[in-house]
Amino acid sequence: MVGTGLAGASAAASLAELGYKVKAFCFQDSPRRAHSIAAQGGINAAKNYKNDGDSVFRLFYDTIKGGDFRAREANVYRLADVSRNIIDQCVAQGVPFARDYGGLLDNRSFGGSQVIRTFMPVGKPDNSCCLVPYQALERQMGLGNVKCILATKWLM
Ligand SMILES: Cc1cc2nc3c(=O)[nH]c(=O)nc-3n(C[C@H](O)[C@H](O)[C@H](O)COP(=O)(O)OP(=O)(O)OC[C@H]3O[C@@H](n4cnc5c(N)ncnc54)[C@H](O)[C@@H]3O)c2cc1C
Repeated sequence: MVGTGLAGASAAASLAELGYKVKAFCFQDSPRRAHSIAAQGGINAAKNYKNDGDSVFRLFYDTIKGGDFRAREANVYRLADVSRNIIDQCVAQGVPFARDYGGLLDNRSFGGSQVIRTFMPVGKPDNSCCLVPYQALERQMGLGNVKCILATKWLM
């Protein structure tokens, strides 16, 4: 795995959980320094839990429009399509998303979209979307299933 941000850390930890021996190449002194640590708003997913007309196509369209029609459409469609599974992956890995009083995952309105589709971590820090995969990665490192290698060392 090259990179240990949200994507790399969660993938490395998940692969290790499945029984693979993973080498994770990290560019900085800590996976926590990845860009992912800056994100604090939450993750948009077209689960339509609020029953307000959301759909994969609507998230795709909002994202294309939000990117001033400059994003690669195939990639954005894939993002919208897998958005629902990503929430489940995060929950399974331990991200403490906000829940309503009934215990179900809650959503908030975020980012100017016309539907309510943002899954947000509770409390502070809000960046637990990144911290949780990082902890899952550390757990697998502790178990000896992931070896984290500093890229600065392997580049030398
Ligand atoms: C201020 C801010 C707020 C944001 N808020 C939100 C939000 O609310 N909701 C949302 O969904 N998104 C948000 N985003 C976007 C989101 O954070 C990113 O899209 C996401 O974190 C990208 O994750 P990643 O794992 O793909 O990349 P990164 O987190 O950038 O991880 C990539 C990793 O790869 C490493 N790397 C790069 N090259 C090499 C190499 N050659 N060898 C080894 N390692 C390498 C990097 O050092 C880094 O650790 C926000 C972004 C910012 C900056």
